[in-house]
Amino acid sequence: MRQSQLFTKTRKEAPSDEVAKNAQLLIRAGYVYKVMAGVYAYTPLGLRVLENIKQIVREEMNAIGGQELIMSSLQKKSTWEMTGRWDDEVVDVWFKSQLKDGTEVGFGWSHEEAIIEMLQQYLVSYKDLPINVYQFQTKLRNELRAKSGILRGREFVMKDMYSCSLDATQHDAFYNATIEAYKKIYSRLGIGNDTYVTFASGGAFTKFSHEFQTICDAGEDVVYLHREKNIAVNEEVLNDEHLESLGIKREELEKVTTAEVGNIFNFGTHKSEQMDFSFTNEHGEKQFVHLGSYGVGITRAMGVIVEKFADDKGIVWPASVAPFAVHLLSLGEEAKTEADALYTELNSRGVEVLFDDRAEVSAGEKFADADLLGMPLRVVVSKRSLEAGGYEVKGRAESESKVVSKEELLSSLHA
Ligand code: ATP
Ligand code: MG
Repeated sequence: MRQSQLFTKTRKEAPSDEVAKNAQLLIRAGYVYKVMAGVYAYTPLGLRVLENIKQIVREEMNAIGGQELIMSSLQKKSTWEMTGRWDDEVVDVWFKSQLKDGTEVGFGWSHEEAIIEMLQQYLVSYKDLPINVYQFQTKLRNELRAKSGILRGREFVMKDMYSCSLDATQHDAFYNATIEAYKKIYSRLGIGNDTYVTFASGGAFTKFSHEFQTICDAGEDVVYLHREKNIAVNEEVLNDEHLESLGIKREELEKVTTAEVGNIFNFGTHKSEQMDFSFTNEHGEKQFVHLGSYGVGITRAMGVIVEKFADDKGIVWPASVAPFAVHLLSLGEEAKTEADALYTELNSRGVEVLFDDRAEVSAGEKFADADLLGMPLRVVVSKRSLEAGGYEVKGRAESESKVVSKEELLSSLHA
């Protein structure tokens, strides 16, 4: 993509009402546009990051047998009444509206009930199970406070997966496979080393649920870590009884601030009983489905990545989610022909390049923009670099640049 064609522009100042680092940087760089508090649009640059994150999640969900679909955003009242979750006293984030004829509808803040109601129409016998489905969807939630940029939106993208199993054994196998898949996801996103499978409150059916918590100063959660044993406990379930059952002691734990980037729940047969979600087993008897639900905060993960890796100059994208692998800067008239040729060559080799071909912009501004935008590799073509024998390359997270020949650059990008 040619930067001269990009409609977004970088900004020196963040909006004064935006306090979160992730939103400040993403807005200044032109990845997101703030519509109102907690509501953000994603520009072509921001969308590329989101799509990269989604693709990683999609690959790992497919690998464990997930089938992708997409549910509706408009939800029926009767669907949610079956479990009591239409009530604003029970779910405090509902956005609701009415059809022209007065029928009440809700905007999907989650999809358990809606998925069950749909799958009910297809599930007949035990032979139809397991069913594991997932979607990427914009969830709408009337969150009380939205002050953490894209970490907590009133509109945000979630991957939600739902598993329908024959029995507890089949459920547990899929639940454990999902834990492993999530570990792969967060490590591919570059935050694996700081993301902990965390014991959290489990609701009605199990003692614990599992959250995936990433150490992050901008997060809203507090987790107690046992680094040696790799055990993490959300403060909401931190008590002597639980610690004893996990074989750890309070004084061995380190308190950290985290952001919840994913979570998984075992509903057992509780919800299925409420909604009469059942099948006939091999003896012709009626049985209730074992249900699990598995979320990943896609937009929140993007925000956490910004928070964790940014430096005082701007964003630092891990290669796996960066919108472009290379930021190519053409400096000065003398470099133009060579830079253009390199852009064409890289494109033809399938390397994703953002090409700063802007004629009227100073070298200083181009460097500052490259730092703010955060592509993993900056490649400068200038009179000086050509005289030194090639291009000046620098990793975004590195401080020193070096001059490499065209051949060296091309082979390094292929590896
Ligand atoms: P939280 O405790 O942070 O409110 P939650 O318990 O409501 O999250 P779920 O409803 O299960 O979480 O959503 C699944 C995932 O979606 C969460 O793990 C989180 O990563 C993400 N998420 C939840 N709420 C938001 C939000 N308002 N904005 C952005 N991401 C969110
Ligand atoms: Mg919530």
